[in-house]
Amino acid sequence: MTFADLKAQYPIAEVVARYADLKAKGSYLIGRCPFHDDRGRPNMAVFPRTNTFKSTTPRQKPWTC
Ligand SMILES: [Zn+2]
Repeated sequence: MTFADLKAQYPIAEVVARYADLKAKGSYLIGRCPFHDDRGRPNMAVFPRTNTFKSTTPRQKPWTC
C-alpha cells in the first residue's frame, strides 16, 4: 500500500471530524486544530478535494501545521 492509497482510503474530513468539530464552508470545512490549544476562532481549514488541511494561530505565529 502506498501513502496515496492510504490517503484515498481515509478521507481527511472523516478522520479530522473524530477529533474536532467541523463546519462546512463552501468547498472546505473549518474547525479548531486539535494540535493547538487555541480557544479563539476556528483556526483550521480542511480541504476534502485535495485531502489536506492547514491551520494557523495568529497569536502564536510559529504554530502553523
Ligand atoms: Zn494546527
